[in-house]
Amino acid sequence: MSALFPRRDRFELPDGVVYLDGNSLGPLPLGVAERAMATIRDEWGGELIRAWNSAGWMDAPRRVGDKLAPIIGAPAGSVVVGDTLSIKVVQAVAAGCRLRPGRTTVLSDTGNFPSDLYVTRSLLDQLDGEHRLLTVDPEQVADHLDDEVAVLLLTEVDYRTGRRHDMAALTEAAHAVGAIVVWDLAHSAGAVPLDVAGCGVDLAVGCTYKYLNGGPGAPAFIHVRPDLVDEVEPLLAGWLGHAAPFAMESTYRPGAGIERLRVGTPPVVQMAMLDHALDLWVDTDVAALHAASIELSEQLIAEVGRRCPQLTLVSPKDPDGRGSHVSFAAPMAEQIMQALIDRDVIGDVRPPSLLRFGITPLYLDAGDITAAVDALADIFETDAQHDPKYAAARAVT
Ligand SMILES: *Cc1c(COP(=O)(O)O)cnc(C)c1O
Repeated sequence: MSALFPRRDRFELPDGVVYLDGNSLGPLPLGVAERAMATIRDEWGGELIRAWNSAGWMDAPRRVGDKLAPIIGAPAGSVVVGDTLSIKVVQAVAAGCRLRPGRTTVLSDTGNFPSDLYVTRSLLDQLDGEHRLLTVDPEQVADHLDDEVAVLLLTEVDYRTGRRHDMAALTEAAHAVGAIVVWDLAHSAGAVPLDVAGCGVDLAVGCTYKYLNGGPGAPAFIHVRPDLVDEVEPLLAGWLGHAAPFAMESTYRPGAGIERLRVGTPPVVQMAMLDHALDLWVDTDVAALHAASIELSEQLIAEVGRRCPQLTLVSPKDPDGRGSHVSFAAPMAEQIMQALIDRDVIGDVRPPSLLRFGITPLYLDAGDITAAVDALADIFETDAQHDPKYAAARAVT
């Protein structure tokens, strides 16, 4: 294990909990609660509306975007934060379609997250009746790239299996047929090394409450390649994406550069929380973090293989083909997970019957992985998953 990790003292984590769900909701970083309270009491309470200027509320989406940019390998000035990821997917796909008039296909894969597919389909339904969403097997994406494709929309790391696409190769293949590429980095940012600039990615989006630990409801981000951004005609052309919001002009003029992807009023308290949470990345090398994640993931896979034959690995065996979570299939996955959570080992489940474990070396070590497998083995030994108290599924899994 790398000497750099874990850094559990940077988080407020309950004692005794093994938290294997940081891929879905990162834990509370130290100091975020104080920062939120200062924003509420000192800025909102003390400054009132003056805080839009005096506390930098209005500039926060861009300033926090600049702080996030290095984590995805994007240059300063190319990322803005706001809204939710589902909204940012709509904006990115709409921008891509407008950049490629005459092309009618948005290509994605069946492993993509439901919201990305739902919002894209609903967007295309509103267009001209010509556009269609084509979803193919993740392994067959490259075979379906042709000159009909306006936008290739992919999530790099599959939310269920952890399968990771080859971003450089697929971006290059999409560009070879003249398509725009939109990468969703929801399960990548803060988990795996990213180089959106080096890959020439056109647009990228992601959320900040998973590996970036921004907190529940934290705003999303969008990146546009700097040489492309002035051509983007934003869908959801809100007043804060206007070139001069407070001129209150009767018609929309897009703001400079990435600013045009803003929509309306930013969530100021969440923005401050995210700003503070991102301080962690100033001295965190994502490549080293990913290497530590591979080490812990290999340990989990090996120990489960040895001690819990009831579980079947569904994540890729090759660490290079994986993000930073590991999933296993098992009958009664939901009941097993409820029994695990009762043992203070927190992961989650996804259909069809997958147990999912986020591997986050910022606050996990080899002892935590062993403790998680101990709990799993204990469940199978005692047949705890059949306990009637686990019969009812939870609303949020
Ligand atoms: C988590 C996730 C989302 C969630 O979108 P929200 O608008 O933040 O609820 C969307 N897409 C992907 C790929 C995700 O992993």
